Amino acid sequence: MQPGTGAPCSPQSSDPSCAAAAPSGRVVVNRILRRDNFGRWILVDNFLPVSKQHASHPNRGEATVQEETMEPQPAAAATPPAQRECIQELDLKDLCEATPEERREEKAATLQRLRQRGVRRLTNVWCERDPDWVLAVLRGAAPTLEEISVWNPDDAHLGVVHAMPELRRMWLESSEAPNAPPAVLPALQRGGLKWLRVGALAGPSLVSLLQTHSATLEVLWLQGNREDLPDLLRQSGLRGARIILWDFIHYPLRWHSMYRCREWLSPLQRTLPEAVVECQTCGKVPWERF
Ligand SMILES: [Zn+2]
Repeated sequence: MQPGTGAPCSPQSSDPSCAAAAPSGRVVVNRILRRDNFGRWILVDNFLPVSKQHASHPNRGEATVQEETMEPQPAAAATPPAQRECIQELDLKDLCEATPEERREEKAATLQRLRQRGVRRLTNVWCERDPDWVLAVLRGAAPTLEEISVWNPDDAHLGVVHAMPELRRMWLESSEAPNAPPAVLPALQRGGLKWLRVGALAGPSLVSLLQTHSATLEVLWLQGNREDLPDLLRQSGLRGARIILWDFIHYPLRWHSMYRCREWLSPLQRTLPEAVVECQTCGKVPWERF
């Protein structure tokens, strides 16, 4: 109420006494409580002014409480993600193991949280169990994501990851269905990946991924266990990257041979004279944790 007038104080009131009673941004509501027959405090009236009489007669069994209620604020979702604290890391292993019918509330809450705040790093993103939910997660994370480890993406997942503007580090493993045509990713004007570890991705998909990020890629961990390696590197557009071949098995031997390794590496190195091509086993290159 406006003091002395009986008129209600509203946030829009022009009465200066209202302004004094209710600081900007808050609505002050005075309430009177009285003990009932069981000694419990009960609310007896709303919206009464603070009473000096009540305050000076505490033994009457009444008390005045003052509540502050925040004025309605804009919906939290309306705040741009950039103005909130970004989630540093989410490990999605447990949620990715759930089918679409399982853990639905947790999945929805996680999706809402990362859409509102953004996320910098996602790990253990397994795509095949609940592909629609993972696709929504990837789309929600796309504006802020810098690092990801992702397993078995389908074409839609791969397309979203491929175009993430802030992505700098990725570990990508794929076990695509042998009869499915591999995705050829669209050429982007500017890729930004600096570190990539990739295994078992089909040749056309990998070539388009490497071509997009060839200008920025500094370290490439490439599974050596593939027969299209020379063609792959020749088409990759890579220049000054360090290329580490891991899981390097020589067919038809089916094991790693240092002698065969040197035979393989020499032509690969000639294909990319500005890059450094090395074998993890022969070069004793420590496995980098992601
Ligand atoms: Zn070797």
